[in-house]
Amino acid sequence: MATPGGPRPGNAPPNHNPNALANNMQNLQINQPNQQQSSNVGGTAPRPPNTSPFGQQPPPFTGSRPGPPPPGVFARGPSPPSTPAQTTLPPNMVPARPTGPPPGSRPPPFASRPPPSGALPSSMTGTAAPPHSGAGPRPGPFSSSPLTSGPSAPPQMSSHGPVSNGPPAFAPGMTQSGPRFPPAMGGMPRPSAGPPQSTPMLSSGPSSQPLQVRPSFGSPPAGALSSIGQPAPPFSAPSQAPPFSAASQAPPFSASPQNMPPPPGSLPFSPPVPGVLQSSGSPYGMQTWPPQQQQQQVAPPPPIPGAMQKQQMFGMPPGQPPLPNQSMSLGQTGQSKIDPNQIPRLSTSSSVILHETRHDNQANPPPPATSDYIVKDTGNCSPRYIRCTINQIPCTVDLLSTSAMQLALLVQPLALPHPSEEPIQVVDFGESGPVRCSRCKSYINPFMKFIDQGRRFICNFCGFTDETPRDYHCNLGPDGRRRDADERPELCRGTVEFIASKEYMVRDPMPAVFFFLIDVSMNAIQTGATAAACSAISQVISDLPEGPRTMVGIATFDSTIHFYNLKRALQQPLMLIVPDVQDVYTPLESDVIVQLAECRQHLEILLESIPTMFQNNRIADSAFGAAVKAAFLAMKNTGGKLLVFQSVLPSTGIGSLSAREAEGRSNISAGEKEAHKLLLPVDKTLKTMAIEFAEYQVCVDLFITTQTYVDIASLSVVPKTTGGQVYYYYPFSALSDAAKLYNDLRWNVMRPQGFEAVMRVRCSQGIQVQEYSGNFCKRIPTDVDLPAIDCDKTIMVSLKHDDKLQEGTECAFQCALLYTTVYGQRRIRVSTLSLPCTNMLSNLFRSADLDTQFACILKQAANEIPSGPLAQVRDQATNACINILYSYRKFCATVSSSGQLILPEALKLLPLYTLALLKSNGLRTDGRIDDRSFWMNYVSPLPTPLVIPLVYPRMIAIHELDEKELELDDSVIPTSIPLSSEHISDDGVYLLENGQDCLIYVGTSVQQNVLQQLFGISSVEEISNQFILEQYDNPLSKKLNAIVNEIRRQRCSYLRLKLCKKGDSSGMMFFSYMVEDKTPSGLSYVEYLIHIHRQIQSKMT
Ligand SMILES: [Zn+2]
Repeated sequence: MATPGGPRPGNAPPNHNPNALANNMQNLQINQPNQQQSSNVGGTAPRPPNTSPFGQQPPPFTGSRPGPPPPGVFARGPSPPSTPAQTTLPPNMVPARPTGPPPGSRPPPFASRPPPSGALPSSMTGTAAPPHSGAGPRPGPFSSSPLTSGPSAPPQMSSHGPVSNGPPAFAPGMTQSGPRFPPAMGGMPRPSAGPPQSTPMLSSGPSSQPLQVRPSFGSPPAGALSSIGQPAPPFSAPSQAPPFSAASQAPPFSASPQNMPPPPGSLPFSPPVPGVLQSSGSPYGMQTWPPQQQQQQVAPPPPIPGAMQKQQMFGMPPGQPPLPNQSMSLGQTGQSKIDPNQIPRLSTSSSVILHETRHDNQANPPPPATSDYIVKDTGNCSPRYIRCTINQIPCTVDLLSTSAMQLALLVQPLALPHPSEEPIQVVDFGESGPVRCSRCKSYINPFMKFIDQGRRFICNFCGFTDETPRDYHCNLGPDGRRRDADERPELCRGTVEFIASKEYMVRDPMPAVFFFLIDVSMNAIQTGATAAACSAISQVISDLPEGPRTMVGIATFDSTIHFYNLKRALQQPLMLIVPDVQDVYTPLESDVIVQLAECRQHLEILLESIPTMFQNNRIADSAFGAAVKAAFLAMKNTGGKLLVFQSVLPSTGIGSLSAREAEGRSNISAGEKEAHKLLLPVDKTLKTMAIEFAEYQVCVDLFITTQTYVDIASLSVVPKTTGGQVYYYYPFSALSDAAKLYNDLRWNVMRPQGFEAVMRVRCSQGIQVQEYSGNFCKRIPTDVDLPAIDCDKTIMVSLKHDDKLQEGTECAFQCALLYTTVYGQRRIRVSTLSLPCTNMLSNLFRSADLDTQFACILKQAANEIPSGPLAQVRDQATNACINILYSYRKFCATVSSSGQLILPEALKLLPLYTLALLKSNGLRTDGRIDDRSFWMNYVSPLPTPLVIPLVYPRMIAIHELDEKELELDDSVIPTSIPLSSEHISDDGVYLLENGQDCLIYVGTSVQQNVLQQLFGISSVEEISNQFILEQYDNPLSKKLNAIVNEIRRQRCSYLRLKLCKKGDSSGMMFFSYMVEDKTPSGLSYVEYLIHIHRQIQSKMT
């Protein structure tokens, strides 16, 4: 079974101590890729020697070895790049000391406020010290971009940016454990959708032949087709030339070869109807194309869009094997009787795919993002870090626009590796910093070509020839490569991490600051949200990075803001009140942000007492904007993470909001055109604040625990601009959401992450970055500023041509992320991906990456939602799908029958995913404004592997787990089934998960013994609303619990559990996920295919 979402490391036992992990990481040695050690560091079992899926581990970089010393051993590198870093700010933060009370007749900055009745011991309140006078705004830590100029920049541009040496924040390749999960608890329902559709729509009427699936050409007539009779697929079958020589349990590429029938039992649904062809090309079948094939392809003249002869294979040289695709006969009227089993569906493979990023000096197309794979970096970076929508780059913009596909990268620079993958090597060039092209400033990588006996090198991004720094010189071998190329990670690996030299710093790396800001207004107290937040924070304190660099602070707010002095000297925390919520002050930073080691005890006492202190609070107002601003002022000198727990609509002070949803609601139901404006921030107040936060390296994460509308569209601007994210618990239930809140917070602070980061993507000449999209702040066009970035954050980078590329060459992309680890080291993580350029449209379709393409379509749709009527955005999504399929149909497929819908193999699920997108919370026509806003925020930084399960969740039949599966390893998740109510039976139990929520549906006539085993009840009626999944002592129950835990581990998310049954709102909610069904407002899958087909037909004529 594939594991959508990709494997997540985290095999550590639930009670493992992450701090021990951190300590181990401190001991990691730079540039010593000791596999054993690193594996241990990851909290996983040590890998025995020679059990790497890729065979022999590469030799460590240290030790006796001929040739020059490893990079880390160099005394000096080349001379430093031109201009020294400009220091536009004081070398270190000089905290502005208070100089006295503020001028004028303002109210005292901190009033001593009596604690809410019965609350605070008198010693805990007091008058605060006056606010500090506020140093003038300080520029970010980088006076100019540390990543410096793009390819077009003149040579004199310098590199600057920060650094320090030291151990990695998280060991390269280290695998942080997944969240630790307390016992599963029931979840709250999301708002229910339309009624369940119990009528399968798949045989919709009289007439016509069954849906047929067969390759469009180059194959025998329908009925005679079998896998054996196929022409050689354009992708090499896995059995030929295994890419990995290593002995391994799993076959290197274990998926079925193209057009081979899947092994018995691997189909998620019933076997094919006799006489009807089975689609056999698994979308997730691993495919490699033999390098020589690319080389053999003869490039035809560049295509001229629209000028192609219909029957001519566009870009297809004679004799080339046909593109794998899938065709379906669809009646002109759409009244076809369609066999649902013949529709393209996601099929999954149970085995782990081993992926070498390059083979025979050719880029290997990556496995699907949703599959379970292990990467060996052989020159290109892992697809976990960078994926391209197309794995061959069109030479011209015309070719790209003809294809109608997008050219974009999805970049996830700190993505978690698989536990079995080799750690990222850390390279230290000493004071001179990493070798870079002196013109475009791209970093040394395996594709820079050394010439002239190694004395010079040619940049693969701009073509400039540089002198090799003297200390970095090495002779070339007979193959033209440097003799030390295989020993230097930066010359043989697609991803390396450089120790940043001083030049990359304009101040010392910032400490790890965590500031918690908690809503204690009446609603927050009464719903239990405050108590849940305090409890969660209290529990994660021990998960914060240890050491003197970890600082914490805490404040609460209702209509005023309350800071707490956590100094050890004080017997009990002292409350400092900021009453002015229009012009905010903040107490002394040194009083409210304290080293964790100094205040741990005080913090625990305080967190325990806050809910009681405010238990009788009658203040309903919330000064969210002012509180966030005040916390920011306290953090301004250091930067850090601000974690805000908010329960109501901010109603007072700066940035207060109005309940504009109410006025908008009637508009929406009336299909009012202006409704989308409710999805835009109400004004610029919070955005302006957020930009300032980002400048000072403050990242805001927002935990919304509410039961009402809170205007997420306005609030979310703060996390989005500062590299943070929104968590949404609606309708919040203290009973069922507390566990999720805790786990979300825990993962937030524990996951691998970096601070004060800047990222830039560089491209080879001919291509340039058009736009970045995600959660960040952008002040100059070429770079994105990330006050914080973590392993889960993904940035979409759309690309455009500015020149022609040459067939036969490669086009490279390089992502450089300069960041500070949580332990205070400055690092530059550099990932390089080099892909072949092509003049052939067929190659684009052949090498299209479905998951990445769809992720881009989805993210773009999310970006578009606020800017126009929803109908328009929905049409755009469908049109994007139609245009791609039309291009394929017109230029790449032979025309056999106009009644056939022909889908390129690589993209055959595009219509299904697009339909699912139309039915998602983001694009469905009904639904709440805040739900849609949250969806838009959720998808903005969403990693590629989580995009598909979000719109097309995974569904598993629990009652069908047979003996065999029950005995399998816990980590094995059973094969999923299509999201159609046709597959739901009344006597079944089903689990459905989308990375956020997990629904367990129980049919009305489930056998009593199954109910007893799974839930300890004897009839469906006994199911309680507050469902808690328990583990009973029987194999079925254990397996269900194991599956839920494995899914949580994979997703790095504590899914909310909800038990659903037929006949009530929970059941309706469950059926709303059956995206293949017809709904009152949406087509069935078959109807949608017919719709797409008709549109393509009309474009053809
Ligand atoms: Zn260059």
